[in-house]
Order: sequence, then C-alpha cells, then structure tokens
Amino acid sequence: MPELLEVESYRRQAEAVVGRTIARAEAPDAWFVKAGEPAELEAALAGRRVEAARRRGKLLVLDLDGGDRLGLRFGMTGRLVVDGSVAIEKLEYSSNRAEPRWDRLVLHFTDGTELRLRDPRRLGGVRLDPDEDALGVDALALTLPDLAAALGTSTAPLKARLLDQSRVAGIGNLLADEILWRAGLDPVRPAGGLSDAERAALHAAILEVLADLGARGGSHTGDVRGAAALDGLCPRDGTPLVRRTVGGRTTVSCPAHQR
Ligand SMILES: [Zn+2]
Repeated sequence: MPELLEVESYRRQAEAVVGRTIARAEAPDAWFVKAGEPAELEAALAGRRVEAARRRGKLLVLDLDGGDRLGLRFGMTGRLVVDGSVAIEKLEYSSNRAEPRWDRLVLHFTDGTELRLRDPRRLGGVRLDPDEDALGVDALALTLPDLAAALGTSTAPLKARLLDQSRVAGIGNLLADEILWRAGLDPVRPAGGLSDAERAALHAAILEVLADLGARGGSHTGDVRGAAALDGLCPRDGTPLVRRTVGGRTTVSCPAHQR
C-alpha cells in the first residue's frame, strides 16, 4: 500500500508536470472527490498551471497558480501514472493491470501529456485545498522532540500512535511493523510509557527504516514482514513471530526481543 516511501516516489514522478498547464480535468467518480461535486473540481482545475509537487505524509499536493492546492490521496491501492508510466511496478495489495475504469482523476495538459490517479479499490481521494495542518510532522523530518510530543502521555498502543497521521504523517502498517521490530518495542506498549532510551531507539529506527526500505524499493521490503511470509521466524533471534491485530491493523512482531 502507498506509505510515505511510495508517495515520495509519486511526488518525484509528479515533478515532471510542474510547469504544465491543465487543459481539462476528468473526475468521473463522485465518490473519489472528497469536497464538492466532480464538475466543480473539473472547472476549478481547468486552465491552472502546476507550480510545485509536494508531499506531507501520504498526501501528495500539487500547488496551482492562483494559490489553490490539489490534494491527492492513494488509499490502499492508488498509484500515479504520468505520461503513461508508473513509478512503482508492483504495489502491495494492488493490481498492476491498467483498467481505464480505475482512473479516478485525469489531468490533461495543454501540451498533450497527462497525469492519472489510478485506484482499483478507490480508498484514496482528491480534494481542492486539503487541510495540511491536520497532519502531524512528516516522518522524514521527525526530530526526537517531535516524536516525544507525538507520543505524549498517551495510553494508546504504540503502534496505533505511530499510525495516527495527525501525530506523525507518513507511517503506515508495513513501515510501523518494521520500525518497532528494529527498535525492539512491543507494538502494544502504551505510547506514553517509553523510557528516554527507548524513545531515542524508536526515533533512530524510524529514520533508519525510511532510509533502508527507501533504498530497497519500498515499504514492503522490510525484514520482519519478509520473514513472516517466509519461515515465520524472527531474523534476529529465531523466535516464531506472532500475528495480532493492533490498532485495527494486522501486526507482526517478535515476542522475544520486542518488549
Ligand atoms: Zn526477535
């Protein structure tokens, strides 16, 4: 599923459309337009030039001339298609087929090029001027004090807090499992109950996992998820991994070294 790393790939891909002017927008799926009617969005986008492609957490933002912003969300299965090519060949949980009916937003530019948001399960969405302030600090820019503030004194499970996009933006289910596995922390620990050393280890693991899995090719390339799919044993100590639901999400962890 698109987490920070995948959406960052989309953002780099979307840089190709910076400077282009939208001739016509198509938003055929009313469900996918999260504010107003599709016709209003299409009218608002026509004639606008794309000035920047930014990302905050899992939200991709195209800045338009005149000050409006177009927010694109990819849900579980959304991908970006720019000038006919995709940035990510294989997306966990999504189909790699190209079905025109899965195109939830198409921007046709004046130079004949195009951008498509293709989402089979349509759990993503588009909206004009999304509320970026509702998102927490982007995980790639997260400092240790930011993390301490995000965890606060919460008694919520640590993993649930990491997945809360209003606290830290960009971490999804796969990244969270790898981060907690590397940090040696049990996903169900109360978020506000970490020692200073544990919090520092968690912070280091967040940045390490983003760098490592980014270099490997995406959120699905983590060690613990790979082991769970292979032999079910912790790569660090050989203990059978456990699968639980934490914060409503399937969670893989090691009962031996994640405390
Ligand atoms: Zn282990």
